[in-house]
Amino acid sequence: MTRARNVKIVATLGPASNDYKMIRALFEAGADVFRLNMSHGDHEEIRKRHEIIRQIEEDTGKPIAILADLQGPKLRCGVFANDGGEELAVGAKFRFDLSDAAGTIERVQLPHKEIFQALEVGSTLLVNDGKIRVRVEARGEDFADCVVEVGGTISNRKGVNVPDVLLPLAALSEKDRRDLEFVCELGVDWLALSFVQRPEDVFEARELAKGRAAILSKIEKPAAVTAFDSILAVSDGIMVARGDLGVELPVQNVPPIQKRLIRKCRNAAKPVIVATQMLESMIESPVPTRAEVSDVATAIYEGADAIMLSAESAAGDFPIEAVTTMNNVAVEVESDATYREVIEASRKFKGVSIADGIVAAAREIAETADIKAICCFTQSGNTALLVARERPRVPIIALSPVKETLRRLCLSWGMNCFNSDNVDRFKMAVIAAARAARASGLATENDSIVVTAGVPFNVRGTTNILRVAPCDERLILNIDPE
Ligand code: PGA
Ligand code: MN
Repeated sequence: MTRARNVKIVATLGPASNDYKMIRALFEAGADVFRLNMSHGDHEEIRKRHEIIRQIEEDTGKPIAILADLQGPKLRCGVFANDGGEELAVGAKFRFDLSDAAGTIERVQLPHKEIFQALEVGSTLLVNDGKIRVRVEARGEDFADCVVEVGGTISNRKGVNVPDVLLPLAALSEKDRRDLEFVCELGVDWLALSFVQRPEDVFEARELAKGRAAILSKIEKPAAVTAFDSILAVSDGIMVARGDLGVELPVQNVPPIQKRLIRKCRNAAKPVIVATQMLESMIESPVPTRAEVSDVATAIYEGADAIMLSAESAAGDFPIEAVTTMNNVAVEVESDATYREVIEASRKFKGVSIADGIVAAAREIAETADIKAICCFTQSGNTALLVARERPRVPIIALSPVKETLRRLCLSWGMNCFNSDNVDRFKMAVIAAARAARASGLATENDSIVVTAGVPFNVRGTTNILRVAPCDERLILNIDPE
């Protein structure tokens, strides 16, 4: 099964998508990557979902990426004496402190000592997805006295955002460290880090992951937007996490940031996911709003590698319909002439390496002659990522003997991933590429493909060969050099 689109779909799993039948149906409807959200679900549940995905991989013979999303230092208030919480009125005084006594109309616990040291008079705190806004009027080592600027209901364990302060928090909480070790042992492909603020946060996770998973930074803090270039440089991928980003910054800032981040990621040849509320209404409705369809389309026109479903697939009533909707929108957008125009006009980078030159030439040839696919042999995945950056008109086939590489690549634009045996002869590589092209249905015996590879084989970073090859094995055997 080959997808009829290039953009990838990430589906978050949850109570609505917990068993083999449903996860398989989501995969068949178009989900390429499954997200395990470590903020919800215990380790046993996560283990079960992981096992089911690997079973589907085996049953379908297709690599599937699994992305574990760590909760990160998300701040939450304590609990209230009154179960329904309290209604904060505009102009009222409200205190956050360290006491674990149940909250009242006057105060509640904010169990993060470091925060009180970082807050200043005038700092803003946002509660419950930004619905309530308070400003700090006075502060001490263990409290902040605030005045309510936008009122609303505050209740048990609601999220608290502190947008204008660089939080002196470790990137990974104790829970994150336990979760990280657990999912790395399970064998997930990507780790998403929440509330990344600085490049050091990425180093910390990378050190713990020890190469077992690639690292994706979620951009959801103003500090991460400011430090984006240095965060991108040390990350393997990026998520535009519009939920918290739209709480911490004025919502109207999110679309231009999304555009800018997508462009930078493409130039860096690193996958970027656009996430949150893409088809929000489909949590409860089998059809999306027109505005949601337009939002999905926009991310695709902008050249995102992947678009994501959160509650729509994890907890909604219509998970399959949500994936199908994304798939249909993607197929339509990608067949629009304007899409190609935009994608090609934004091909702005200038390569510097032999591999850059080879992939650009591969695209050029594939678009000049009648070529059905660009096939690339890749060990680390790097050459395949460079091909994806070109955003070629013809499908990309990534071949690797390294299954972790193939799984990670499932997140990237246009990638069709195939396991290949360890080839050590160029002729064998061309035959394997031709077989993959035919098996995927992308080419027939009478077609031609472009093959890129590196000789010597099985050494990282050696891409140095470009070959236009027939898909007919007899021809390859007759004419190709060893
Ligand atoms: P979350 O991240 O769903 O883990 O909060 C995504 C976002 O904030 O958009
Ligand atoms: Mn978030």
